[in-house]
Amino acid sequence: MAVALSAVSATNLLGVPRQALEAQFATWGEKPFRARQLMQWVYQRGVLEFSEMTDMSRALRTRLAAECTLTLPEIDSEQRSADGTIKWLLNMGASQGIEMVYIPEPDRTTLCISSQVGCALDCAFCATAQQGFNRNLSAAEIVGQVLLANRILRAEGRQISNVVFMGMGEPLANYRAVVPATRVMIDDLGLGLSRRRVTISTSGLVPQIDRLGEDCNVALAVSLHAPDDALRDELVPINRIHPIQTLLEACWRYAARQSSRQITFEYVMLDGVNDSLAHADTLVDLLRGRPAKVNLIPFNPFPETRFQRSPARVIDAFRDRLNQRGVRTTTRRTRGDDIDAACGQLAGRVADRTRIRLSDKPIRAAGA
Ligand code: SAH
Repeated sequence: MAVALSAVSATNLLGVPRQALEAQFATWGEKPFRARQLMQWVYQRGVLEFSEMTDMSRALRTRLAAECTLTLPEIDSEQRSADGTIKWLLNMGASQGIEMVYIPEPDRTTLCISSQVGCALDCAFCATAQQGFNRNLSAAEIVGQVLLANRILRAEGRQISNVVFMGMGEPLANYRAVVPATRVMIDDLGLGLSRRRVTISTSGLVPQIDRLGEDCNVALAVSLHAPDDALRDELVPINRIHPIQTLLEACWRYAARQSSRQITFEYVMLDGVNDSLAHADTLVDLLRGRPAKVNLIPFNPFPETRFQRSPARVIDAFRDRLNQRGVRTTTRRTRGDDIDAACGQLAGRVADRTRIRLSDKPIRAAGA
């Protein structure tokens, strides 16, 4: 008993999935439905004070308040773009900060959340990569982002229809927190989002893609960015460990678990690097006839980058070529770039603790 109690002391209950919450209540001799009551207060009514959860006994409320918390991340600053996009810098303690972005569109409203403080994967064209990596976020800090945004937006008569893990960090490198957090998002008693409206975007961690298929098969987006290994090794260094064919096989396995669903392949358009029609044709060879769609992302610049965005006519020609050859392709509209809130521009406030980024390791030399 003492172990169970110390294990929960000061535990932030945000982001704890229903089953784990039920187990926790059971160790206190409480019925499983207490977990449901708690989730309804938190996720449906937005109540974070245990004392206000009036359908629970006073003794239970006192115990919860003594041993647990329901704590949201704090906002450091907010910026609003001319196009309606909102970016928040959230205080993650110890002088660390992450960014979160709300993107309103006519048919949906998307919240783009972060999974790590910084990122260790070192993709060549990404501002977050430049910051280095500090730490993983907890499930509470991940779900807390959505609750926090919900609170602010509801007060303005808006709500969130979609959540994408496309902010800072590589979500599948923080599997232990991302999966429980995602479960809470899609639980009816949690945030109640449909599986199709929660997207995990990954640079291609193959073992975790397979595990995710079993554990929580939400929508999957894969940052492909190059149609051949030589180029992808340079742009997305994790490719040196999980090359394209291995990655695609994992994608097709993932898609096969959920009939009728497609994998989205993200492809950043870098001027003169990966944007020729020959690249488009190689991409067609990889994806045609597969449960795949392509989302072209015009490169968003940030200080000290060596890349430039492909011209609009090049992006259009690339898109048309893929579509004509049977690979469904759209171009992502750039949103919030006037406040540096667009894809790949999120920098937050990260003190790099790794100093061993992938590009520093002689992977290529060792393999050659
Ligand atoms: N680590 C995850 C989430 C990253 S952000 C992943 O790699 O998928 C979401 C998307 O933005 C990814 O496809 C990422 O490659 C892309 N991106 C990163 N930097 C960018 C930039 N400067 N311009 C446009 N897209 C970028």
